[in-house]
Amino acid sequence: MSGSLSRVELPTTPPFVLRGRMLTPLGEGGTRHEADALVEVDAAGSITYAGPAAERPDLADGAIDLRPWVLMPGMVDLHAHLPQLPNAGLGAGMDLLAWLERYIFPLELAFDAPVAKRVAPAAWRAFAAAGTTTALVYGAVYEASLDVMFRAAEKHGIRAIVGKVMMDRNTYDVTIDPSTILDRSLAESARLIERWHGFDDGRLQYAVTPRFAISCTAELLRESAALAASTGAYWQTHVSEDVGEIAEVARLFPETIDYVDVYDRAGGLGERTVLAHAVHLSDRELDRLVESRTRVAHCPISNLFLASGVMPLGRYLDAGLSLGLGSDVAGGPDLSIFSVMRVGFYGQNARRVAGLETGRVLSPLEWLRLGSLGGASALGLDDVTGSLEAGKEADVIAIDPSYLAPIQGTPADDDPEDLASRLIFRAHPDMVRAAWVRGRRLEGPGSRS
Ligand SMILES: [Zn+2]
Repeated sequence: MSGSLSRVELPTTPPFVLRGRMLTPLGEGGTRHEADALVEVDAAGSITYAGPAAERPDLADGAIDLRPWVLMPGMVDLHAHLPQLPNAGLGAGMDLLAWLERYIFPLELAFDAPVAKRVAPAAWRAFAAAGTTTALVYGAVYEASLDVMFRAAEKHGIRAIVGKVMMDRNTYDVTIDPSTILDRSLAESARLIERWHGFDDGRLQYAVTPRFAISCTAELLRESAALAASTGAYWQTHVSEDVGEIAEVARLFPETIDYVDVYDRAGGLGERTVLAHAVHLSDRELDRLVESRTRVAHCPISNLFLASGVMPLGRYLDAGLSLGLGSDVAGGPDLSIFSVMRVGFYGQNARRVAGLETGRVLSPLEWLRLGSLGGASALGLDDVTGSLEAGKEADVIAIDPSYLAPIQGTPADDDPEDLASRLIFRAHPDMVRAAWVRGRRLEGPGSRS
């Protein structure tokens, strides 16, 4: 399907220059679309030029010509559970808490180091195959399996922020004495931070990861937030996903105003914090997240798969919330951030059809921005990744647009908004033909075809 280009030798390490069509959001706002562009990557893996080929004839000679492929920034997945990937696609429509008991906790319970050795390398390849070059990921509870996940990411080359799940009540890990579980979980997290946070010049980082308020005492939430603050690690958890979950949190934390307040009292809010879902926020909760500069991972596929709800995305963005997109595998069955955009878009349309409040309506290019630069900004990495601009690291994907055409041989879309629309609504599992992080090629893309 990719024609003669499949014989092009793709560079595996920098320096190199790629030639192709280019579509990227820009840090200053807006989008750059070039029908014929060059992306120059230096020996350190940084972008030194990303712009029209006509302006740099000196570079064009040695360039690897990928036309008509489209060069884009790698996507950013702000929320996924790597150990759950083997059960992706199971349990559609189940209630969140019942789904966790049936499909998720048994899988995570089994996710020790030997299982991680089998699953993690394939999982990182699957992220890259989907076009994701940066991922914020949950592990399971075992320290040794986290080391395996990090080592696999180190070898693969993906940009990853990973954390050991912390649970000191309602946990699946019943082998640990409840009186020691909090101290042990904190000590394990601290050791993992020591070993992995900032590894390889910051390509790998750590996120302190209390699962959610139902699995954590107020003390664990407080101590874990303090650990993140004192080490510069991220802090990630779930909030306001499902009405049953919200009711249970209110029962467990009767002294709090609402779900967001549980994390606020623990010192967990702030710009190094990413909360997944936030589907059912009250005005007070939304204001508090905006005011504290807390980040949200919007996971629309998961929210519909588990019938949790449809986030009023436009209203949140109008309020100034910093937000990116998450696959939430295995709450979402699909790792592709392009699929997340598609389902998110449909969800917002469904709100309009149902006469529900929507706020701002996003265009396809705005969805692409959320899935790349929006996610990078949420992580504070917008000076590193999320767009193709000189000075950033070369986190690039190459897409074969022939996968997007309804009929082979039809002309490619000239208009960037039309191209974005096709990328979202006709996304194909094999369309990502190559991915690089810091100019180093990732295994995964192109492996199925
Ligand atoms: Zn999740």
